[in-house]
Amino acid sequence: MPSASQSVTQSVTVIGLGPMGQAMAAAYLDRGYEVTLWNRTPSRADALVARGATLADSPQQAVIANELVVLSLIDYDAMYGVLEQAKESLAGRVFVNLSSDTPEKAKAGAHWITELGGTHLTGGVLAPPPLIGTPEASTFYSGPRAAYDTHRAALEVITGKSDYRGDDPGLAALMYQLNMVIFWPAMIAYWQAVAVAAAHGITAAEIAPYAAENFAGMGHFIDFYAPRIDANNHAGDVDRTSMGLASMEHVVHTAADAGVDTAFPEAVRDVFRRVVDAGHGADSFSRAVEVMRKGASATTV
Ligand code: NDP
Repeated sequence: MPSASQSVTQSVTVIGLGPMGQAMAAAYLDRGYEVTLWNRTPSRADALVARGATLADSPQQAVIANELVVLSLIDYDAMYGVLEQAKESLAGRVFVNLSSDTPEKAKAGAHWITELGGTHLTGGVLAPPPLIGTPEASTFYSGPRAAYDTHRAALEVITGKSDYRGDDPGLAALMYQLNMVIFWPAMIAYWQAVAVAAAHGITAAEIAPYAAENFAGMGHFIDFYAPRIDANNHAGDVDRTSMGLASMEHVVHTAADAGVDTAFPEAVRDVFRRVVDAGHGADSFSRAVEVMRKGASATTV
């Protein structure tokens, strides 16, 4: 009899075969798991079936095949769309839902599965498909601790590291969303820089080392500002929002002069402007946290 910390799973079902689900199924095949698949568009399973995976005829057949069912769908609405077809078979199964959605949707989804007798672990993967199956990639999990412990080894096939955040099924989704809040705008900022560079005949490859150095240096700012923000210290001793506003105006005008779209830098500039308009031009731009916490309609903080 295996102990609670050992995985009892050497077979797994993967439902959802976008780039992520395909990479996950491939990682399980690499480790010798028996893999059952289901996807709305069956042809996405072809390469995996050629490697030995089994394509189920229906969501119900896929769910019945294994105790551990990994979901990699576009969102939780898609999960309902798929699992409604297997409703009678959810009991006794552990659903590891790596589909992205809001914490509220994750909580409701976990409740729905639990009511039907299944177990739901929420997950949030912090890696793109090429890093699935590698030791350095990491995934947030939350939900029943016992299910996480039992299946941890199988989960760590997907990403070598797993970060269990607690029982609340919304927590993993929240931690994932916090990362997305940073990731998507940061990458769009980079696309903006590439577009401005391109307008001047400079390639993405030429600015790549500088962009990478810029991103790598962000850790300094996080480490510097986090304790100050938690202590409600927005002193303008190293930066003043009025300086940030002037600087963002330069960013907007540099893009405009190059004929590049200004919507994104204007949105950032407007945050600085709201902080200044609220009377905090002499404070650090970290004061923007307070403006944001009070919502879009706040004019004073
Ligand atoms: P895709 O959008 O490429 O794939 C989504 C999957 O959902 C496909 O299998 C698709 O089926 C299925 N699907 C969509 N709508 C429905 C529906 N109405 N009914 C049934 N199935 C549906 O996403 P990815 O594979 O890239 O990502 C999967 C999840 O992982 C997402 O939640 C994403 O946010 C998250 N994620 C993705 C990362 C990435 O870099 N790609 C990184 C980290 C997390 P079909 O093939 O038939 O269209």
